[in-house]
Amino acid sequence: MSGIPFDQREGWIWFDGEFVEWSQARLHVLSHGLHYASTVYEGERVYNGKVFKLREHTERLYRSAQLMDFAIPFEPAELEAASHQLLQRNQVVEGYLRPVAWRGSEMISTSARFNRVHVAIACWQWPSYFDPAARMAGIRLKTATWRRPPPSSSPFEAKASGHYQIATLSKHDAENNGYHDALMLDWRGHVAEATSANVFFAKGRTLYTPVPDCFLDGITRQTVIELARALDYQVIETTILPTQLGDFDECFLTGTAAEITPVQSIDEQHYRPGTACRELIAAYTSTVNA
Ligand code: PMP
Repeated sequence: MSGIPFDQREGWIWFDGEFVEWSQARLHVLSHGLHYASTVYEGERVYNGKVFKLREHTERLYRSAQLMDFAIPFEPAELEAASHQLLQRNQVVEGYLRPVAWRGSEMISTSARFNRVHVAIACWQWPSYFDPAARMAGIRLKTATWRRPPPSSSPFEAKASGHYQIATLSKHDAENNGYHDALMLDWRGHVAEATSANVFFAKGRTLYTPVPDCFLDGITRQTVIELARALDYQVIETTILPTQLGDFDECFLTGTAAEITPVQSIDEQHYRPGTACRELIAAYTSTVNA
């Protein structure tokens, strides 16, 4: 464990329309969101005081709530204004923003149709190191035993807390075995994504990435596809089987937190982070800082 626990930091948190001191941002233990995972959230990155792709993240937060059958009781513009004010109050210039919405305590049962929906936003410093040399070493992934469920079992486009229990189990299993993260397969056994990032493979100037038909089509994923096409990479969204993992030269993850993270290996399969990782990291760095 490292760092100050997240409930013991200093600064301000926006909570149901007001700025409250960090230590006072509390919810009751009998909250529906805690017991039944009726919670949605966003992870946003702040570069030079600006939230990268704020509109896209805000839209996804509202869509996630709608998919989980609840409505956020604020206008999108109110949350965006609150985020900007919060960044200023907490003097965060390079950092991370975490909006979260959850059902409250009026009912503690499967049904929660009349529960009030609460919203909070927190932010903290998170400098973007982007030391390309260190990053290029790459991380090691272990294929997870837990799989992404079929789209018929949950609204997979929602960034909803319930979906993360599989990710946490898989990430723990990877870390307990000396790996950095897990590669998750979907219910069919196709390559899906990492626990909180999308995955890409490169062979020469062609990129391959799984079709996001049962996992988040990440905002970073979409950005990287655009950047890659502008750099004359061919980008193919397709089925990737575990037996094909040896067909590629490079592999990398994309996500708001992961940015572009080269992958050194998946189980026994090794990759050599090279031109594709380097060019895309450079393009992504200049885009987020533009
Ligand atoms: N998949 C999962 C499961 C995630 O949690 C994330 C991070 N939000 C991503 C993919 C990447 O999404 P984004 O690029 O929008 O951060």
